[in-house]
Amino acid sequence: MPDVDVLVVGAGPAGAVAALEAKRSAPQLDVLLLERDRAVGAPVRCAEGVGNAGLREFADPDGAPWVARKITRVIFVAPDDTEVKVAERDVGWILDRTRFDAYLAADAGAAGVELLVGTEASGMRHDADGRWEVAVRSGGSADTYRAKVVIAADGVEAMVGRWAGLDSRVPARDMESCVQYVVQGIDFDPDAIYLQFGDQIAPGGYAWVFPKAPGIANVGLGMVALKSDGRNARQYLDDWIARRYPRGARTGYTVGGVIAHTTIKKTYTNGVLVAGDAAHMINPLSGGGIVNAMKAGRLAGRTAAAAIREGDTSARRLAAYHQAWMDLLGEDHLKYYRIKQALEELDDDFFNGLARTVNKIPREKRSLGRIFAHALVKHPQLIPVAARYFV
Ligand SMILES: Cc1cc2nc3c(=O)[nH]c(=O)nc-3n(C[C@H](O)[C@H](O)[C@H](O)COP(=O)(O)OP(=O)(O)OC[C@H]3O[C@@H](n4cnc5c(N)ncnc54)[C@H](O)[C@@H]3O)c2cc1C
Repeated sequence: MPDVDVLVVGAGPAGAVAALEAKRSAPQLDVLLLERDRAVGAPVRCAEGVGNAGLREFADPDGAPWVARKITRVIFVAPDDTEVKVAERDVGWILDRTRFDAYLAADAGAAGVELLVGTEASGMRHDADGRWEVAVRSGGSADTYRAKVVIAADGVEAMVGRWAGLDSRVPARDMESCVQYVVQGIDFDPDAIYLQFGDQIAPGGYAWVFPKAPGIANVGLGMVALKSDGRNARQYLDDWIARRYPRGARTGYTVGGVIAHTTIKKTYTNGVLVAGDAAHMINPLSGGGIVNAMKAGRLAGRTAAAAIREGDTSARRLAAYHQAWMDLLGEDHLKYYRIKQALEELDDDFFNGLARTVNKIPREKRSLGRIFAHALVKHPQLIPVAARYFV
């Protein structure tokens, strides 16, 4: 049975960064990264948008081959199609995730991580020495690896944390169904992302246009099935596209789940750390999880390496990872989740009214902070939302 020090399951952003950071922190350790799909980064189940500052903590996007588009504007669209343009600045980037995920995994490989693609973890159990034995399938063959620490970075359909006895259940109201087309031959501002809200458009979520190039965009939506009027997510999206871009050619299609919840109560146990979507580390307001996954992966990789060096991979030692994550972003997510719940109580009329009020603020002064402050004055029903945010 091959022995490794750190075994990372899943080569998405969380897993690739976790493996890289574990190896960087302790180059003498054997770090193995497993990816079930036949190619890292494919198929893409993502709108591929990331914030500028967060991305730059991990990679330089200027001129990078894994970038599709630089974004300098955000346009919020109210349910009645009123557009609110927010002040221009370095907002973020639309990635080419097939290339980006492969770039991260290649970086880990260059640092000495062993990467196996087309290789799936299929179960695990504790052995008599307290190590994890991870069963692995690849093509027709099966193997078992023994690891001191397993990092579960297996995404939204995560199983590894459950095998280790961790609770990762999600209330149905916080599970968003997402669908997306790549649409070509359409007219929009290629430097902006568009986000549209509305009960008839994407109940419990929002619809988006994320430019890949002039005339080509990821056009999708996320919604809560429990709030549907009977249509499924694809029907909502087809209706929205038929209205906005009737002549666009749909050249790609993807579906996926986004967990708009808060971090699982316990992201660690003896010899196991859970990172990224597998630990529900997505921002519950925006649904963005790429940068969060990388930040969690960095913490997990470093914690695993330090724990192994100290010869203590017990739950007590690994709890430091959970605390570090909660300090970094987990506590903020609890606040964002409360805002999300409060916003759910507001209806389309409210958002239409807010859009019109906000459009009276001069465009260069229209930052998110000002929009929020203005909204409080003009729409007193928002005050409980703000109160809940700051409590
Ligand atoms: C439609 C849609 C749009 C989105 N848009 C955005 C966006 O614009 N911006 C943003 O920041 N986030 C977005 N997200 C969320 C984002 O995609 C995730 O938060 C991010 O990919 C999480 O990274 P991860 O490494 O935790 O998981 P993943 O990227 O899902 O990676 C997990 C990997 O583990 C592998 N795996 C799973 N099980 C096993 C196993 N047993 N053995 C081996 N390998 C396994 C999977 O194949 C996968 O490659 C979107 C999600 C969806 C569904």
